[in-house]
Amino acid sequence: MDPIPALRFDNTYARELEGFSVPWKPALAPEPALLFLNRPLALELGLDPAALDGAAGAALFAGNAVPEGAEPVAQAYAGHQFGGFSPQLGDGRALLLGEVLDVQGRRRDIAFKGSGRTPFSRGGDGRAAVGPMLREVLIGEAMHALGIPTTRALAVAATGEPVLREAGMLPGAVLTRVAASHIRVGTFQFFAARGDEARVRMLADYTLARHDPGLVGTPDRHAGLLRAVARRQARLIAQWMNVGFIHGVMNTDNMTLSGETIDYGPCAFVEAYDPGAVFSSIDSGGRYALSNQPLIARWNLARLAETLLPLLGDAAEAAIAQATEVIDAFPGWYAAELLAGRRAKLGLLRPDPTDEALAADFLALLHAGNVDFTSAWRRLGEAAAGDDAPLRALFPEPQAPGVWLARWRTRCAEEDEAGATGAAGAGAATAGPQGAARAARMNAVNPRVIPRNHRVEDALEAASDDGRLEPFERLLDAVRRPYDDAPGLAPYAEPAPAAVTAGYRTYCGT
Ligand code: AMP
Ligand code: MG
Repeated sequence: MDPIPALRFDNTYARELEGFSVPWKPALAPEPALLFLNRPLALELGLDPAALDGAAGAALFAGNAVPEGAEPVAQAYAGHQFGGFSPQLGDGRALLLGEVLDVQGRRRDIAFKGSGRTPFSRGGDGRAAVGPMLREVLIGEAMHALGIPTTRALAVAATGEPVLREAGMLPGAVLTRVAASHIRVGTFQFFAARGDEARVRMLADYTLARHDPGLVGTPDRHAGLLRAVARRQARLIAQWMNVGFIHGVMNTDNMTLSGETIDYGPCAFVEAYDPGAVFSSIDSGGRYALSNQPLIARWNLARLAETLLPLLGDAAEAAIAQATEVIDAFPGWYAAELLAGRRAKLGLLRPDPTDEALAADFLALLHAGNVDFTSAWRRLGEAAAGDDAPLRALFPEPQAPGVWLARWRTRCAEEDEAGATGAAGAGAATAGPQGAARAARMNAVNPRVIPRNHRVEDALEAASDDGRLEPFERLLDAVRRPYDDAPGLAPYAEPAPAAVTAGYRTYCGT
């Protein structure tokens, strides 16, 4: 069988980085069945989706038919988990198959998750269950549709082998993940913790070549790498915050150098806005609560900076100064990204010193009124078009946002007037078309549909318990169209009943 002749592997990680991974083979699946194939992503990779349906695709994506040119390896990494350092984690249930160049020439990792035990498995079974792997599909595709950098699922195949979890025996599955790379803060920590400066340097140079080729050969390239990673993370976390995404397990082994979101475990989108929102059952201390995410990102970047110190110059003090400069700059970079995003969410085009307070005060109103974050932003677009009522209806007291709305309208009107004078030859535009244009802009950045936690749970339960994939497929279709006003998507736009959200917990690592 020649399952995927179109994938042309070029495995630089396995080939160039000796001592960074262990060659390994996926476990055999007794009864492979393809549950999900990402057709658009398959096309990006130059694959023919039609050739992957059926038995060939099932065998491939369950790990039974390792494609030609793949050199599966388990990658080594360490990590701070909830603040405590583990010097050896690594791919305990994952394998990097290799890298392929996609149709646009971008290098992308192809990796399995749930493909069996490896030398890094410690006490784990190396397996994954159907539900959590389909969850990774849903959230990853939603993030991608929202324009947020993310690893993506190419396929999920059931293995036919049950896995034992707290909930009992669950159907097992393998996820095939596509990523810009799987280099994590924890990968650097693995070698730094062993005092292996040569390998930290190799990894830094490899990462530069892969993610920041413009910095290769520049003076201070390693400080440049730290800065580039910090900038990517500033942008990423700001994007998370502007859609209310809570990663849930921002350990250093779950933070990429590429700036892609990785590892959708106990993640969730906030419903009623609460900066302290936590859903993960394992995050009882709230370390990874919604509003802590930028602080944790900075903390993780400081851990990366520590690993790079020996590369930043011969004089320790100068190295520390370079690293500190980046870590100290991070909050400002993050704030600027966040504000730019918020300005767009408010329908504003030009920066104004009052923007930060305007956005913060809107969020404070949502928090005080227990108002659904996603619905409120979306309905602000309707207010821009002239109808306040849908937004007001979200509040326990419809008059609650009145004063704020007046402020926002004044700001919008000022901007419209400035724009009208600024445009050569244009007369004063009426509020109508400007309001409609603003609403259209806002509707392109304020999603209507996100993967609502109750919808995700229902879809995964149907797939895992009864083998029914339709709820998953319908939800997937909806989250892939986050800005679409189609009436058929209305059920996916609605928040969960408050009682459901109040008790909602996500579970990790299954
Ligand atoms: P995660 O919380 O998914 O980011 O995983 C943290 C670490 O635990 C990584 O080293 C994983 O490879 C490992 N791990 C998670 N689940 C399993 C499992 N079922 N078997 C073996 N290792 C696992
Ligand atoms: Mg992980």
